[in-house]
Amino acid sequence: MDIKQLLKEKGFRFNKQFGQNFLTDNNLLADISEDAGVQGGTVLEIGAGAGTLTRALSQSADKVIAFEIDRNLEKILNITLADCPNVKVVMGDVMRYKVSEVEEMCGGPYRVVANIPYYITTPLLMQFIEQGTQVTSLTLTIQKEVAERLSASPATKDYGAITVAVDAVADVTLTRILPRELFYPQPNVDSAVVRIDINRNKYDISDHKLFRKTVKVAFAMRRKTLVNNLMVGFKMSREQAESVLTACNFAANCRGEELSTQQFVLMCNTLEQMGIQ
Ligand code: SAM
Repeated sequence: MDIKQLLKEKGFRFNKQFGQNFLTDNNLLADISEDAGVQGGTVLEIGAGAGTLTRALSQSADKVIAFEIDRNLEKILNITLADCPNVKVVMGDVMRYKVSEVEEMCGGPYRVVANIPYYITTPLLMQFIEQGTQVTSLTLTIQKEVAERLSASPATKDYGAITVAVDAVADVTLTRILPRELFYPQPNVDSAVVRIDINRNKYDISDHKLFRKTVKVAFAMRRKTLVNNLMVGFKMSREQAESVLTACNFAANCRGEELSTQQFVLMCNTLEQMGIQ
């Protein structure tokens, strides 16, 4: 099936607002499904588009639940997915659903596989990381620069709160770079595929809410030292902030961006022991 031809025939107009850049190469789509480790089981796809990735996923999964916000794509999906009985398309904005509602539709453990638009990348990822109870992995095609942030090392410019938040509960692998020419229509940036395997026992974090706050506070003002950020974020005195660093054995003038995830865990557990919230 020639997807580009079909879209033209049906008079489909791409909506930039929804980040509509479709993948059409069947070999690449099969490779992404393989990168995601889809072998049976349930897959949640966010943003079915013209159904190209959905089809590839349906060949290896037992069941695919695919969300698509753009109602103009419904008639296209009815054609492209006509011979995929294990796919259920949900026309709607995934961000309007609670993660628990989506999980109910999946009905058990599931993998997220999606080529998602830039504007929902961070909120979507954080929702599933923080609230997902049945999600085993997320394999996301995202802007290359976001993928680099997710897999960054401490003390680099790409390293940030999202790197630590994800690394704290998951293992991130950048599986492939997708040059912009592979998308239709062609976007202005390159993309990458990242596989995020949920691994909630990776670190000994007893209070995840406090952990998230600790990370947010440490990165709030990147140019400031950790002491300064702790003082502002936790409303503590300089002496108190310095005592946290001393207890953790961190340099007095260190910055949040220099800490590894393990060191963030140490700082969070120290704050907890000190009764700071
Ligand atoms: N999966 C297709 C592919 O790989 O060719 C389409 C990917 S395209 C980058 C992203 C798709 O997500 C678009 O079809 C867009 O309409 C849809 N989308 C954007 N925001 C969405 C949302 N909040 N909920 C559901 N779908 C959304």
